Amino acid sequence: MAQDASNQKRIDNLEEGDDLEAWKKANYIVDRDSAYANPYYALQKLKGGNKRFIENRSIYPRQEREAIYSLAKGQTPFATIIGCSDSRVTSEILFDQGFGDLFISRTAGQVTAQSSYGTMEYAILELGTKLIVVLGHSKCGAVQAAIKLPDNPPGHVVTLINAIKDAARTAQAVEGSEEDKLEGAVRKNVVNQVNHLRDLEPVLSRKYQSGEILIVGAVYDLSLGEVVFLEETLQDLPNTSYSKENITGR
Ligand SMILES: [Zn+2]
Repeated sequence: MAQDASNQKRIDNLEEGDDLEAWKKANYIVDRDSAYANPYYALQKLKGGNKRFIENRSIYPRQEREAIYSLAKGQTPFATIIGCSDSRVTSEILFDQGFGDLFISRTAGQVTAQSSYGTMEYAILELGTKLIVVLGHSKCGAVQAAIKLPDNPPGHVVTLINAIKDAARTAQAVEGSEEDKLEGAVRKNVVNQVNHLRDLEPVLSRKYQSGEILIVGAVYDLSLGEVVFLEETLQDLPNTSYSKENITGR
């Protein structure tokens, strides 16, 4: 917490002008209001935060006491993250964000079902979040289980395996080492999930098709700390009125 407070002080003490501009550039800053208003800026904000994280220069924003008090009045998260429950994939830390920034749903293998659909719809309709990121990760245990496809998976684990097994099968059919196949299945699982959410009636599909919200996929590398946004989920996007200009560091 001491470091958070000192970072906040540093930001507060910077006067408008050269110092602040230089600091923003050096730290890949995208301001919160812009990120909340425009999903393409929200994406830039996540990328900038992950860059700080991998460069070991996190600024730990909005983690001081004052942030908690001011957020008690309400929240305006700038992104919704559909991530894996894996204890090593903690979005606020790996995107270097703070309280009130990310609306998160986590299940093993980031498998979604009715209650998570409602969670996303709530984020979009009530909280005004415009970016959804499906965040898979390397060496995912749930994807590994779907590749192994055990005969009698215990309890409700079968639900997870059923949701991932198509991605696992597709990746298994590709030539490569076991590790390559697992990483291929992780990626394919994310792409399938993104496509599924883009088609999900009635809220997500309409908002996505009209260009009001953005739904993309990414994979977090457990050993590097890096989040790679998947090109195949960034291409052929519906027309939108949002600016796609790069505002990082300005
Ligand atoms: Zn996982």
